[in-house]
Amino acid sequence: MNLISNEALQPFDIVLFGATGDLSLRKLIPALYFQDRDGQMPEDGRIIGAARSDYDSVAFRTWIDQEVRQYIPKDQLDEAEWGRFLKRIEYLKVDVTAQDDYRKLGEMLAGREEHVRAFYLSVAPSLFGAITDGVHAAGLITPNSRVALEKPLGRDEETAEAINDRLAAVFTESQIFRIDHYLGKETVQNLLALRFGNALFEPLWRAELISDVQITIAEDLGVDGRGAFYDQTGALRDMVQNHLLQLLVIIAMEPPVSVDADAVRDEKIKVLRALKPLVGIDAIRNSVRGRYTAGAYDSGPVPGYLDNDTIPDDSMTETYVAIRAEIASWRWAGVPFYLRTGKRLPGKCTEIIVNFKRVPHEIFPTADGFATPNQLVIRLQPEESIRMRIYVKAWGDDIQLQPVNLNLDFNDVFQKRRLIAYERLLMDIVRGNQTLFMRRDEVAEAWRWIDPIRAAWEQYDYAPVPYEAGTWGPVEANALMSRDGLKWAEE
Ligand code: NAP
Repeated sequence: MNLISNEALQPFDIVLFGATGDLSLRKLIPALYFQDRDGQMPEDGRIIGAARSDYDSVAFRTWIDQEVRQYIPKDQLDEAEWGRFLKRIEYLKVDVTAQDDYRKLGEMLAGREEHVRAFYLSVAPSLFGAITDGVHAAGLITPNSRVALEKPLGRDEETAEAINDRLAAVFTESQIFRIDHYLGKETVQNLLALRFGNALFEPLWRAELISDVQITIAEDLGVDGRGAFYDQTGALRDMVQNHLLQLLVIIAMEPPVSVDADAVRDEKIKVLRALKPLVGIDAIRNSVRGRYTAGAYDSGPVPGYLDNDTIPDDSMTETYVAIRAEIASWRWAGVPFYLRTGKRLPGKCTEIIVNFKRVPHEIFPTADGFATPNQLVIRLQPEESIRMRIYVKAWGDDIQLQPVNLNLDFNDVFQKRRLIAYERLLMDIVRGNQTLFMRRDEVAEAWRWIDPIRAAWEQYDYAPVPYEAGTWGPVEANALMSRDGLKWAEE
């Protein structure tokens, strides 16, 4: 089992709870189709959709045929392969809170106990416990079973642990696949390859040579139809606890001894444990909490967060967070890691910027009078690329330095189609490869760092500060960096 595992799949049943939901239609079913079309699935692989909507298998296939096509690019949809794929799909009308419905599921699964059995919980987290208890009580958990869960895994450490306790009562940790879909992205895996597959970067990857690291997950969308859900969650829980911390950990971890799941996850958790706690006034000084107001894009004006009818006027929910984090370790002592995420920012972009220190003694003049240090930019969205800024002498009589980019655009390098994150993750669940999934202690440790930040916001009545939709967030976030003599990359 390892990161690069591409071993053939065993025959399987994937039971997709929440098969009629948004995630299933937009991501999971297209991902399964791509893998099937590309010849990755064994002949005997079934997908069993389970939800309350009233379909039988034939009607469900017809509905999927109508609903899912829009999420598959036209040039990727091979009618013959699509038709063949649809035949893999069965449907069972299930209310996950009704124990008798698990008996019906048992009948559908009977005789296939040797097959890999994957329960994928694409439902609200409040239903996780009912499903795990239900499949257990009905005797459906075989040694070859796994369970996969979507974030959010709890609202804080206590609730996450309660979910994990309930899971642990019926599944072993090696059967539990906690999904952070960022880990399924090619560039995140490439980050590991870049760091640990090249001799070039590792010697540079430390406080002596790195000035700071900036990680941004920006979205241009607002909360729109998801207002009620989002207002209970906010950017700290929705993005920082999982995606941003996972990216930070992959940048900062020590080399694992191998790419086996536990070797990688043992190193990842050390970073989470080494994060300097942000408690009380320290949390207030090192975080910025923002909320977008009305603004405009090229496409036209957009309303503010509080203008949404589903959001209460006295909402204290943040749509933007910036945090200055530090890792207390030999490698990273004194290097600030700036994390930020927000809705209604200028564009959709996920980017990690590693800023190197200046040369110790500058001997060359530069066009703009000073040498901006070397910079490594790793882009995960919209395109996947790695760019290194270095200095060269500009052509001409004068010796003047000019920054140029060594550019690695994966679209140019690889002729193959880029997998969507869920393809990789779904196949790894069937394979039983947990490298790209979060272990229980990782989730708990991430909450342990996040919870005091939220507690400090409440203790100090820190209400979200405004920023105009279409801008890069509140001015307070600039102050967070200017204190260190730095600024966010695009400003
Ligand atoms: P959704 O669109 O609301 O879908 C929920 C699904 O659950 C539907 O298929 C619904 O089907 C089913 N369901 C609800 N109550 C049920 C019950 N008692 N018994 C059986 N089925 C029931 O939600 P979603 O957006 O797909 O999200 C699913 C999960 O993924 C959530 O945990 C969410 O937080 C997470 N997630 C979603 C996204 C995304 O992009 N959508 C991204 C990250 C994480 P019926 O009404 O037919 O029963």
